[in-house]
Amino acid sequence: MKLNNNKLLKASSYINGKWVNADLGNTFDVFNPFDNSLLAQVSDCGQKETREAIEAAQEAFKVWKNYSADQRSKLLRRWYDLQMENIDDLAVILTYEQGKPFEEAKGEIKYGASFVEWFSEEARRIYGDVIPGHESNKRIVILKQPIGVVAAITPWNFPNSMITRKVAPALAVGCTVVLKPAKFTPLSANALVVLAEEAGIPKGVINVVHGKKASVIGKELTENPIVKKLSFTGSTEVGKLLMAQCAGTVKKLSLELGGNAPFIVFNDANIDKAVQGAIASKFRNAGQTCVCSNRLFVQSEIYDEFNEKLRKELAKLKMGNGMDSGVNIGPLIDENAVKFVEGLVEEAVDNGAKIVCGGKRLEKNSGIFHPTILSDVNIDMRVFNEEIFGPIAPVFKFETEEEVIQKANDTPFGLASYFYGNNNSQIWRVAEALEYGIVGINTGMISTTIAPFGGIKESGFGREGSKYGTDDYIEIKYLCMEIE
Ligand code: NAP
Repeated sequence: MKLNNNKLLKASSYINGKWVNADLGNTFDVFNPFDNSLLAQVSDCGQKETREAIEAAQEAFKVWKNYSADQRSKLLRRWYDLQMENIDDLAVILTYEQGKPFEEAKGEIKYGASFVEWFSEEARRIYGDVIPGHESNKRIVILKQPIGVVAAITPWNFPNSMITRKVAPALAVGCTVVLKPAKFTPLSANALVVLAEEAGIPKGVINVVHGKKASVIGKELTENPIVKKLSFTGSTEVGKLLMAQCAGTVKKLSLELGGNAPFIVFNDANIDKAVQGAIASKFRNAGQTCVCSNRLFVQSEIYDEFNEKLRKELAKLKMGNGMDSGVNIGPLIDENAVKFVEGLVEEAVDNGAKIVCGGKRLEKNSGIFHPTILSDVNIDMRVFNEEIFGPIAPVFKFETEEEVIQKANDTPFGLASYFYGNNNSQIWRVAEALEYGIVGINTGMISTTIAPFGGIKESGFGREGSKYGTDDYIEIKYLCMEIE
């Protein structure tokens, strides 16, 4: 991997302002998912190091919470500037360890940095309130205070932006953080921390613990009473487990979990636009995003036309190494992910689905899976009920608005949803009826720093980004004063 700034490559954990190896000297391997070449051997920490990180964050909290909002704002702004100055290197690291195409990786770095910029500005706007007293001699004042030490656990599919989306608001309001990144993508996390240190963020304010035994680190983060809040992005299965583990110390929680997004196209939609939206929302990151369209529903009159147009557009996508120019589809994260996707296609085909295009790996042993359309699918298939996390688009045919709303909502998940249509009344009806935290209307691109990102139902709770993004890191306290 060639970088302009080699200081960004670190393989240790970062505790109390120091790069540290695991106490026992253990490491775990990090591979490039494109060719399985070894990228790094990263410190394999456990409970002891996690506890040390938590204690360092507690000490740092005593100081950091007393920084003025202006001081915190300026440090975050400097961190943002450094991320933008190092954007190419950060994107190279991301592509090497995660696989997404370089231009897409750059997009993620910009998106990730935008949270740091946004919350550097929000740091100055954590306003309290004054409430008219309930008695004539009472005065009620609302204070907003940082909750304390925050644990953040993040996934591999957005190894940069899922971190900044948590760390930036936490730091903005005066919290300190212990971060556990995904074991597939520790290098992007470390590169961010190198820049945080360079920006002047004091020791102990951000700590990073790497380890291949997530459950051991997770247990300490969820059971240690010093930690006051857990912010988790990952699968619903792990989210439920962590929620249960946090019950013992009644931690505040934000859970950004899995999705099963419907993508609905009504007869009167602009089909070409809908096809572009489907490609953006389904095939970005080779289908490995939580807001990926999972189930495409196309109304019967335009079903064949939509499939044909989508097939033609998919044929233009270039598969390969994310570092090669023009590549749109990189590898899935590992062999298990490829096998999972193969299993979904096989089960659908065994039950009557037809492969319109794709349906297999690029070549034997490749981690790259062809962009795939499945037609003649039904609601009993796994592709209807499970998060696909790969470049497979099952296209369901529907007749009426009522039917498609029922099917779209027929899932425990409730993160993102999309629909295309041109009837004003229908747009309002459908937008209100979809049981999702996010609704894209005539667009497949919904992520932005300025809007509150998050789900409902088993996709979790809490909102990241936007003016609501600091709420989860704040305690509200009121002062009730009696005056003479
Ligand atoms: P995952 O298996 O749940 O892992 C997420 C993180 O949790 C990783 O850091 C993982 O560590 C850690 N982890 C796993 N088991 C743990 C345990 N017992 N205790 C503590 N931590 C534990 O999910 P993933 O496969 O990385 O990510 C894909 C999932 O994330 C999908 O379901 C996707 O929809 C969801 N996601 C949601 C959002 C959102 O905003 N709603 C955004 C992105 C992704 P290791 O890597 O070391 O195993």
